[in-house]
Amino acid sequence: MNFRPTSKQPRFSRGIISYDIFLTDFSMKTSNQSLPENCDYLVIGGGSAGAIIARRLADANIGRVVLVEAGINDQDDPALQNLSLLDNQGDHTEWGFLAYPVADRNNRIHYSRAKMLGGCGNHNDCAFLIPPDSDFDRWKNLGATGWEASSLIKYFDRIESMVHVERQPPVNPESRRFIDAGIELGLKEVDFRKSITEGVGPFPLNSNGDLRQSSSVAYLHPVAELPENLNVCCNTQAARIIFEGTKATVVVTDRGSIKANREIILATGAIHSPQLLMLSGVGDQKVLTELGIEPVAHLPGVGSNLVDHSSANLILALNRELSPWTMTCCEATMLLKSNSQEPAPDLLYHFVLGVRDKYEGRESHYTNSVKISPNVTRPKSRGNLALVSSQISDAPRINLNYFSDPLGYDIDTLIQGLRGSRKLAETRVFSEMVDHEIMPGPDAQSDDQLTEYILNTCETVYHPSGTCKMGNPDAPDTVVTPDLKLKGFDNLRVCDASVFPDMVTVNINNTVMMVAEKAADLIIQDAKR
Ligand SMILES: Cc1cc2nc3c(=O)[nH]c(=O)nc-3n(C[C@H](O)[C@H](O)[C@H](O)COP(=O)(O)OP(=O)(O)OC[C@H]3O[C@@H](n4cnc5c(N)ncnc54)[C@H](O)[C@@H]3O)c2cc1C
Repeated sequence: MNFRPTSKQPRFSRGIISYDIFLTDFSMKTSNQSLPENCDYLVIGGGSAGAIIARRLADANIGRVVLVEAGINDQDDPALQNLSLLDNQGDHTEWGFLAYPVADRNNRIHYSRAKMLGGCGNHNDCAFLIPPDSDFDRWKNLGATGWEASSLIKYFDRIESMVHVERQPPVNPESRRFIDAGIELGLKEVDFRKSITEGVGPFPLNSNGDLRQSSSVAYLHPVAELPENLNVCCNTQAARIIFEGTKATVVVTDRGSIKANREIILATGAIHSPQLLMLSGVGDQKVLTELGIEPVAHLPGVGSNLVDHSSANLILALNRELSPWTMTCCEATMLLKSNSQEPAPDLLYHFVLGVRDKYEGRESHYTNSVKISPNVTRPKSRGNLALVSSQISDAPRINLNYFSDPLGYDIDTLIQGLRGSRKLAETRVFSEMVDHEIMPGPDAQSDDQLTEYILNTCETVYHPSGTCKMGNPDAPDTVVTPDLKLKGFDNLRVCDASVFPDMVTVNINNTVMMVAEKAADLIIQDAKR
């Protein structure tokens, strides 16, 4: 079966279904050149961040750069870069994690992470937003010196010199009604590229028509024409980093070892970067010793401080057939301030066309349905990830610990969010197309009922971050210092979503790419000293 859906056909949540088309052995098409024995700069992970760093270092001509990526070369399958084929990417580009959303409940949720050049930027929804300045004020207050908003503008500008952004992408009729419903509630239609403020509007997208503008597309393609000093090695999984004193020297991969003469840059994302550090002996020494891993450095912050945007769903059955969507099934958004004391909106809504449950064992699919899903923009709950063994082949346990903050800020905010979803659904313009509320169902009205509903059905918008937190060197949970160097080490930097000192208000990919642009600058400046 050669299943390539048109936008008229329903699409399914990534990471759950595999289609025959994906049985093709894409690794056969990927240039599996021999692995170099050494280089100057070794970047591990070619995702949103790693692809940018590798390209910038190569262009700066400061030495030989090797990029190792566990997944395939995305260029071997053009469908991967086609945004309108989102959700149809199959298991060969997916790590296939499961995560525990709420402590003390055994439900597990599919926790998608891409495994390919371009990383999650190649299977995300391409919502592309710049966080408000207040987010970076918080970063700075948490010890991220030099990361204040004014100094980051140039990096966001650099990204836009490489990446095409659709500022006002077209929306389908249901998404248009969502926007009009917000206007009926008294909100403004906002260009969210200009400001992150209360309002409704289409999501700006990092795409050029249907062509994704992921970091691999924008910075690495065509791979065959990359500068000679950049060697991209796909289908190569790093298993361990070897340290000598305060230096990281060698990366052991499943295809052999590579020595790095100058720096190693870890960019395997918020789940794999702490996993790889722990497997290499960096983490909580007691825990590592119990697992039989020889400790190298006691950094208990590795794998802790996991923060993600938790969301809840108002699921509605429509009284009509759902129209085809134009590029992504998540075309429009609404930002709300449920608490006027907050510096920026505390709720961000995804309006999702077509609904599929993300829970293990609950994979029900509703036809002609939509969901209005608020997420807590700056959650206070923190999760963690824990190794289950000393083997890289064993996925870590991912504890999202949603709604674990002692004062209940996250759950209270999300209850407000669900009530906001209902208000929007009840507007004249929106209610015209609604048949009935599927979930939580009209009977669930009280705070207690909505709390129970959220604890059982909450979802993720796939924004894990913070697991190798950047901060003040004196803080016990700091993993990297503001120059992104692993605390106590000279030449290992972590540069991906894991270094966020705190969550940003909006979808995080643009911020990850900004971290990469700044990381490249820091490395190049050091090389030229
Ligand atoms: C389904 C989904 C939808 C999303 N939608 C949006 C959106 O619309 N807008 C938005 O802003 N954000 C979105 N995000 C989030 C955003 O895409 C990610 O936060 C961002 O891409 C993370 O970038 P990264 O560089 O930290 O990690 P990644 O992009 O995950 O890159 C890590 C790379 O490292 C590789 N790797 C891992 N381990 C190893 C190893 N041991 N050796 C070698 N390579 C390794 C992986 O294969 C991967 O390619 C979405 C995420 C998902 C999963």
